[in-house]
Amino acid sequence: ATPVSILAGTGRAAELGVLFRKGDALQELSRVNLVAFDKTGTLTEGRPVVTAVTPSAHADDATLLALAAGAEAASEHPLARAILAEAGARGLAPAAVHGFEAVTGGGVRAQVAGETLRVGSRAFLSSEGVAVPPADPSEATEVHVARGALYLGHLSLSDPLKPEAARAVAALKARGLRVAMMSGDAEGPVQAAAATLGIAEAHARLSPADKRAQVAAWRAEGLRVAFVGDGLNDAAVLAEADVGIALGTGTDVAIEAGDVVLVSGAPTGVVTAMEVSRRTLRNIA
Ligand code: ADP
Ligand code: MG
Repeated sequence: ATPVSILAGTGRAAELGVLFRKGDALQELSRVNLVAFDKTGTLTEGRPVVTAVTPSAHADDATLLALAAGAEAASEHPLARAILAEAGARGLAPAAVHGFEAVTGGGVRAQVAGETLRVGSRAFLSSEGVAVPPADPSEATEVHVARGALYLGHLSLSDPLKPEAARAVAALKARGLRVAMMSGDAEGPVQAAAATLGIAEAHARLSPADKRAQVAAWRAEGLRVAFVGDGLNDAAVLAEADVGIALGTGTDVAIEAGDVVLVSGAPTGVVTAMEVSRRTLRNIA
């Protein structure tokens, strides 16, 4: 590829809302054969809503929600914002807590009346020694709540898929690309979203380090990987991928780590990026 054709391709992509931040990203993308998407905020809207409140025998709806909202008050996670919104809609004041701590990819801890309040995934609470009662797999994301060792119940949240997500996946598959999904979310919601989108390969319960390791494993197999993500936790995996594609609607950390930025945040931008890159490289190869 000549510098002039790369410049032309980069310019055409920019008009279509796809910013190639590095010249060689256009070339790299034309060689990619696996596109891995983050789920939350990338394929989904990233604006979950609480759909059910399920207290254990040790709490009621209002107590469960007020404690969860108190623990999440200082969190910037989308699940936290949804829980605060639901408490507000029900006229519940978040419980007063102190000593807030966020545990990346797991949940939050806070202190209330001398006890540790834990709010987050089943895996997070279990790893902290809380006995979470077994439950059937759910298509919703479940956020569990415990005060000390006492399990108080869970909240169910659902995060709708972006309207363009299925179209983006279908278009990439039609172009011969392998498509995968990686998420920190539980198996149930991850497999449900993957099935709806026609993604055969979906990896759940991944920490940011696990996502990076998965991309490294694919690359070790000789695959050339583009990773598409939006989050604070996605910076490492964006850097590991052959081409890191960040959503312009995502966090600054992700945008900085991306080789390519999709301005509108629509996943169909990946298809546009792929088209421009293949066309540019084909024309001048
Ligand atoms: P994703 O990889 O899907 O973008 P994250 O890595 O942000 O998700 O979080 C992974 C999981 O950890 C979430 O699905 C949730 O179960 C749990 N979690 C993380 N942060 C919080 C929080 N502030 N409140 C409740 N749960 C959380
Ligand atoms: Mg995300």
